[in-house]
Formats: sequence, C-alpha cells, structure tokens
Amino acid sequence: MSRELDVVVVGSLNVDLTAGVHRHPRQGETVRATALTTGPGGKGANQAVAAARLGARTALIGRVGADAHGQDLLAALGADGVETARTLRDESAATGTALINVAETGENSIVVAAGANAHVSPDDLAAARPLIDSARVVSVVLEVPVDAVCAAARAARDAGARLALNLSPVVDLPAEVLAAADPLIVNEHEAREVLQRNGVQLPGEEVGYAEALRQVGARSVVVTLGPRGAAVTEPGHAEHVPGAPADAVDTTGAGDAFAATVAWRVGQGDALAEAARWATRVAARSVQQPGAQPSYPKLADVVS
Ligand code: ATP
Repeated sequence: MSRELDVVVVGSLNVDLTAGVHRHPRQGETVRATALTTGPGGKGANQAVAAARLGARTALIGRVGADAHGQDLLAALGADGVETARTLRDESAATGTALINVAETGENSIVVAAGANAHVSPDDLAAARPLIDSARVVSVVLEVPVDAVCAAARAARDAGARLALNLSPVVDLPAEVLAAADPLIVNEHEAREVLQRNGVQLPGEEVGYAEALRQVGARSVVVTLGPRGAAVTEPGHAEHVPGAPADAVDTTGAGDAFAATVAWRVGQGDALAEAARWATRVAARSVQQPGAQPSYPKLADVVS
C-alpha cells in the first residue's frame, strides 16, 4: 500500500490568547500583563504545523467552530501546507480556546476551553479512514474525547500505520490503546501521573520513568525532561538523550514540536533515540521564540 502521508495528526485546534506576565498569579491574585497576543494553537494543530514545517506530508483530523477563530486556524494550517479536508467546521460549538500566561522565566501555565474539540467523534475517524489508510504514522494527542482517541488507535492498527500517542493531558485509556502506543510520549509530570494511576512505584530518577512506563504496557516510551532532553526506551534499547542548548524565552508548544518530530522521524525509519535527538533540536529552536506555531523551525534551521 502506498503511504502518501507521513503524519496524520488526530487532536485539538485552539486559538491561543497569550499574556506575558512578570510572574504567575497566586490563587486569588490579579497581575498585570506586559503583552497580549492572539495566535493559532492546540496540541493537534501545533503538531501538524511542526511536522509540515519540517517537510512532512501532514494532515489533521479535528474540529473548529464555524467562527472567525476557526477560519483563522484553518488558514494558518493551509499556509503551512497541512491537509485540512477532515478538519471539520462545527456549527454547534465555538473554536477551542487556550488562555496562556508566560512568565519572564519562560515557564507557562494554561487553561483550555475545549469548544469544538469536544465534538471530535469516532464517526469523524471513520470518515477520515482514507487519510489514515495512506499514513505512515498516526499521531494522537488527548485534548479530544477518549472514544475518538480509541477509534484513532483502532484505525491506525487496521491501516497498518504506526501509532504515536502523546498522552497529554493524562486520561485513563483502555489497555489495548496504551499497548499499541509506539511510542507513548509524555512529559515528566504526565509520566508520574500515569505511573501513580497504575500503581507503579516511582523510580528515584526521572530518567527511569520511561522504563517504568513500559511496565504499564506501552511498546516504546519517550519521557520529555524539559531542558534535560528526554528518556527513551524501546525493546532492546534505553537512552537518555540530552537536551540541545537553548536560551528559553517561551516553552509553549515545545512538547508538541517534540512529539511531532518524533512521529515524523520514526515514520522515516529512525530508531526512537535518533528520532528523539532530532526532536530535541527542533524543540530547542522552538523555545527560543515566543508562541507555539510561530516558533517552529523549518528543516533547514535544524539541519547543519
Ligand atoms: P510544553 O508544555 O511547554 O509544550 P512539555 O511540558 O510538554 O512542554 P518539556 O519536557 O518541558 O515538555 O519540553 C519538551 C522538549 O522541549 C524537551 O524534551 C526538550 O527537548 C525541549 N525543551 C524544553 N525546554 C527547553 C529548554 N529550556 N532548553 C532546551 N530545550 C528545551
């Protein structure tokens, strides 16, 4: 079967309303923003744009509202060459919205209103089957309903495509979906949560989280560790891939860029650690610019 698409992403699209702040507000406190910007975001859209910008042939399965924000998001995807034939316009919901605060340290905090993302359904996945049938990798993120995630995992299996599962935010998934993840990609907080939910003892060092997560059932695992890079494990190989050096100004969307790059590279035949090395370079570039999608590099920026 020909694989015309490198990466089919299943996930969310949000408009990002981003406030710069000196520091994050404490509970009950109001702080002044130093800047406010509106831009395209959502973990699914971020991943799709990050992959497309690296040259991957990419499609996105998801939903926006039939409003101006949705229009803008589709236009942004189109500008990066992402296939949006199965990115539906939902008449009954607003476009998903993320309220993001970025502190001077570069650390962010985010509140997400799901809007149309909450309507992504197994029927959407069934209608998108021709896309999935032509994909090397189906990359799934968790800002869409669990039944849609399960449908995506089943469709990937039936199509013979590899499943990359970015379990962010963490939800409980059927064991067979976790077992199909190759790789499961989580940050260290998410890793801890999955291990705790499954009653697995936390290793003393975060680099041990990846191996521990294989006890939960994933075939291969990547745990991202912020500036320290990522811990990677697949059958027969475990490695700590160090972070690429960067002067971080805004880490928003770094995890999405990382996950997209891993999905693209494993689809090109890279071993997981090699894919993660690519991803640390791409994500390190992204943290040096403000915003999520605006910060993602082109291939030429990361190949020296
Ligand atoms: P975010 O929620 O900010 O998108 P995340 O919490 O999902 O990110 P992180 O582990 O913080 O995930 O970051 C993902 C990847 O981005 C890391 O594995 C690393 O490669 C890169 N990265 C993040 N922060 C830095 C940094 N300060 N310097 C260099 N690389 C970084």
